[in-house]
Amino acid sequence: MSHRLHGILLGTTIRTHRSIPPHLISRAWFCSGRFRNQTHMESHASCEEVVGDSELLVKKMAAICNAGPAKLQFSCQVIADFDGTLTKYRVNGCRGQSSHGLLQQENPEYDKKRQELYEHYHPLEFSPTIPIEEKTKLMEEWWTKTHGLLIEGGLTYDGIRQSVANSTIAFREGVVELFEFLEERDIPILIFSAGLADIIEEVLRQKIHRLFKNVKIVSNRMVFNNNGHLVSFQGKTIHSLNKNEHALDMAAPLHDRLGDNIDAPTYENASVKTRRNVLLLGDHIGDLGMSDGLNYENRISVGFLNDNVENSLDSYCKAFDVVYLNDAPMWGVVKLVSQLCPSDGH
Ligand SMILES: [Mg+2]
Repeated sequence: MSHRLHGILLGTTIRTHRSIPPHLISRAWFCSGRFRNQTHMESHASCEEVVGDSELLVKKMAAICNAGPAKLQFSCQVIADFDGTLTKYRVNGCRGQSSHGLLQQENPEYDKKRQELYEHYHPLEFSPTIPIEEKTKLMEEWWTKTHGLLIEGGLTYDGIRQSVANSTIAFREGVVELFEFLEERDIPILIFSAGLADIIEEVLRQKIHRLFKNVKIVSNRMVFNNNGHLVSFQGKTIHSLNKNEHALDMAAPLHDRLGDNIDAPTYENASVKTRRNVLLLGDHIGDLGMSDGLNYENRISVGFLNDNVENSLDSYCKAFDVVYLNDAPMWGVVKLVSQLCPSDGH
């Protein structure tokens, strides 16, 4: 099994769909376990997939596959960040919007106020000099103030619908196929986001036009009154720095929220917690904390490095098992899950 996996994996370690800047070639070569031969690497002058330690990845894949094909579909789950992971970083050559960023309130004064908060807190979020405890408090403050402005500004669900319709947000190619593949095998997908659950659902509805019975969203969820106005938020605030203290209890099956009459099994939190093999997708190293509350045995992590590639490639290669560059599509992940959970395995 291990030998076969090794062969499959190495056959796809570096792909050549898009250009990688020449100054990164040597770094990608350094990170990749495959390309020990500089001449060989130079012949792949473009790449989008980098594996820091291919031996380790093969080992992890073998450990998951060795659980036995019949068990695979019951033992695996996918945990994915939303913004910049399932969605593209750039859309039509410009920075794509995030689930928070796309929101336009009926009263534009409030958009301005939220933008001012962004300008104040965003640099603090990435400041290398602020201790993490202090930063966590600042993020709590930012999210609380932002949510307060959404309520005060009288946000409605119609406003969300309109904002999504006007937005420049797009899923990576292959996301639908990934969801379909996992749905066919009853493998749950937990979308874990510090954004807004109601917006993520609306993006799924408008951009994919279909629902997946295996998708759960763990994010900040809004409460609307009978007039359709936002009045509060459910549960504990999830911000960018507390995803590791995650709030599985907030998860609700997608189709429940959308009022769809799908007669399908739902995934209780308990069953999600008992799945021992995790495929984690994220675009920040902090996203690795999304699986902290799970008692997993094997975790394969996939990182999407969207920005500042030159400075971050080494740390991403150390943190994630597989790293994708250049806004790569989701095909590599589809291939990975198809190797972990082949169709003849269930
Ligand atoms: Mg993200």
